[in-house]
Amino acid sequence: MKTVYGPVPSWRLRRSLGIDVIAREKTCSFDCVYCQLGRTKNKTSKLQEFISVKRLEKDLSEVINKVKVDYITFSGMGEPTLASNLGQAIDVIRGLGNIPIAILTNSSLFSRKEVKKNLSKLDFIVAKLDVPNERLLREINRPVEGITFDRILDGIKTVRKEFNEKFALQIMFIDKNKGYASDLANLAREIRPDEVQIDTPLRYSPIKPLNSGEIRKIKSEFEGLNVITVYEAERPKVEVLDVDEYLRRRPEPWKK
Ligand code: SF4
Repeated sequence: MKTVYGPVPSWRLRRSLGIDVIAREKTCSFDCVYCQLGRTKNKTSKLQEFISVKRLEKDLSEVINKVKVDYITFSGMGEPTLASNLGQAIDVIRGLGNIPIAILTNSSLFSRKEVKKNLSKLDFIVAKLDVPNERLLREINRPVEGITFDRILDGIKTVRKEFNEKFALQIMFIDKNKGYASDLANLAREIRPDEVQIDTPLRYSPIKPLNSGEIRKIKSEFEGLNVITVYEAERPKVEVLDVDEYLRRRPEPWKK
């Protein structure tokens, strides 16, 4: 499996070249009910080195001059902050050019010192917060033991306060949490992100997405915040370098 995939036409990051620091069977601290990658068999909060930065440097230098992208983004086969060498990976990418570097993260490890240090090197953090309480965290995100709602919220607030670059809060709305938009909006007002990204699983997922009317209603609860939604945002056109690597991270079974 390659460590670089895409570019991805992203409604949040425009043309985004994906970096996968896991690059193996899905490994995550969550097991979200809507995850497009299926159930999490390797559920962990242990930081590990999954790929070497040498391998990443080789994979990235092969494609970096062939693509025009707006962001290089850590995402892929699980939670990227689980990679103990994330900071070194960011340094390697910086050494190869001036493209801004982003991360899509589930925020579950933000209270860890080494994770905060790695995150501080980025240009854009997109942090997930789908729920306003512990009960819904267990129902929707199904975290590994030891991860609690209070620790996640605390971690998000601390990282947000210490981070000087762009910070977005991403919220995936499904049937189970659509009645909690007002609570989540209040939390967002406390966190004060630069942007709130309201999502619903429009891509392949075991869970049915909310319709555009439901998302519009949810958006209205976030008045006063800078909000983008998956239904309204434009997606750029991109040419994918390797279709198999792309589909592994963004499955579209009907294309197989
Ligand atoms: S955090 Fe992301 S990768 Fe992990 S289970 Fe949830 S949706 Fe899937």
